[in-house]
Amino acid sequence: MDREALREHLKFAAELGVPGISQDPLWRRRPGEDPTAVPLVLTTPAEALATVRAEIGDCVRCKLHALGRRQIVFGVGNPDADLMFVGEAPGADEDIQGIPFVGRAGQLLTKIIEAINLSRNDVYIANVIKCRPPGNRNPEQDEVDTCEPFLFQQIDVIKPKVIVALGTFAARALLRTLDPISRLRGRVYDYRGAKLIPTFHPAFLLRNPASKREVWEDMKLVRKLLES
Ligand code: URA
Repeated sequence: MDREALREHLKFAAELGVPGISQDPLWRRRPGEDPTAVPLVLTTPAEALATVRAEIGDCVRCKLHALGRRQIVFGVGNPDADLMFVGEAPGADEDIQGIPFVGRAGQLLTKIIEAINLSRNDVYIANVIKCRPPGNRNPEQDEVDTCEPFLFQQIDVIKPKVIVALGTFAARALLRTLDPISRLRGRVYDYRGAKLIPTFHPAFLLRNPASKREVWEDMKLVRKLLES
């Protein structure tokens, strides 16, 4: 029985008043189960994402909470997206607005998305790290180790067909490699059930506009994979 059929079945059972039927994710949590595990079976992706967000709470798991972050920048977009973009960490604008990729680099990302005839509402956008590192320094390993399980949960909920890793940091973190983006891009990787395409970070493109050509090649590949 697929998820939609199961949902209908449970809804009908609940309408009939069959006892013991609930869509509350906590209903299915067993004693001793990992409290960060996402209940995936009976919830919609939007509900499951809300559960992941609730698990994060007002996070104090790593030192970034005490280093000036204003808020957690969880992710934005379509919970059913076929295409997901993953960046590094929120910058100053994102920290203020609570939305990933809203600063100058974000505006360029929006144009890149529109160049393949999609809008920000069609895709999902998140970062490896959900809090702004002070002074926009690179995230540190302990921060990545603490935060990335939540990104993995987001990916597993959304189940995109294609993930675009934006820049060296995201590509390295996702692919577990130390290779630079220049070596990683131009190839398609299998990743958590999706096809992963590393490309240059929009902030890099702002400093190196000539690399937009390569990003356009990557985006054409994204479009082809989405259509396949
Ligand atoms: N750069 C990132 O990697 N992520 C953002 O959200 C903004 C800028």
